[in-house]
Amino acid sequence: MKHSNISIFVPHAGCPHQCSFCNQKTISGAQKPPSAQDVHTICRQAMSEVKDRQNCEIAFFGGSFTAIERGYMLELLEAAKCYIGENGFKGIRISTRPDFIDREILDILRAYGVTAIELGAQSMKDKVLSANERGHTTAEDVYKASGLIREYGFELGLQMMVGLYQSTMNDELDTMNSIIKIHPDTVRIYPVVVLKGTKLGELYESGEYKLMPFDTVVELCGRMLAEFDNKGIEVIKCGLHASDGVEGDMVAGYYHPAFRELCESLIYRQAVEKAVGEKCGTVKLAVNPSCISKALGHKKSNVEYFKKRGIDIKVVGDEEIPKYQCEIRG
Ligand code: SF4
Repeated sequence: MKHSNISIFVPHAGCPHQCSFCNQKTISGAQKPPSAQDVHTICRQAMSEVKDRQNCEIAFFGGSFTAIERGYMLELLEAAKCYIGENGFKGIRISTRPDFIDREILDILRAYGVTAIELGAQSMKDKVLSANERGHTTAEDVYKASGLIREYGFELGLQMMVGLYQSTMNDELDTMNSIIKIHPDTVRIYPVVVLKGTKLGELYESGEYKLMPFDTVVELCGRMLAEFDNKGIEVIKCGLHASDGVEGDMVAGYYHPAFRELCESLIYRQAVEKAVGEKCGTVKLAVNPSCISKALGHKKSNVEYFKKRGIDIKVVGDEEIPKYQCEIRG
């Protein structure tokens, strides 16, 4: 059964940090913080609409849930708690910073029925965390928080940002490998989007921050998707969603409404390339049935690409073939 979330955005007004990529004005001004009453209204409505409630979590997103004012955090949890359990939703999902996780906080989260915790790791390189003014400067915080979350038995999610200031290709791959070592249940990959009114925006305008080419980042994220999948780690997001409100405030960066599709098209292009070798004419390929459109490419880009090379690809589904792989048939 497919997992779903009832998303409640908690803007983090008054955050004591100023990360290089974050525009707190946009974040805190974009939406009014939800009240406990808002949580009741959203959950009541979802109770009547969501059929498979045991595969659905009430999700407080916004980045720093455990760093918001304590009384307010408890009010939100208290309200959400009314809708979880036997006839309600599976649990509560939150996202927060690694340096706002300790035993006291985890005891509270457990008591209120939180089931999954996502940490904004962003990078596992200390120099990148420091250059991007995350407010905590060691990846050790991510290891420690992840260990504690696991010890308490919560589902663990890690979020990473690709293309931050002073992060090299090797740093990106090191971050991926460190995350693989932690082996979270889920990962979100966010390619950087440079927003107006941020430190990254200033560094970009001054020429100090140079971004990798878009295609390089698509290739890198494609590689990450394949590696995480290969290690049994589910990537639940790759790229920002149009509804994340980035288009208006974006100065530069790696935004595309179908970013994940671009990455997956490339994974298949490379796999097909390897499989067809020197062949030309019509080539029949089998892929996992869930991946037929990914193999054909974003807007059939792979079909067109191979056509130019004199290859007419026909794709069929086969349950036996793992995701991101293909086999020649016939
Ligand atoms: S922790 Fe960083 S990303 Fe989160 S709200 Fe504060 S400044 Fe923004």
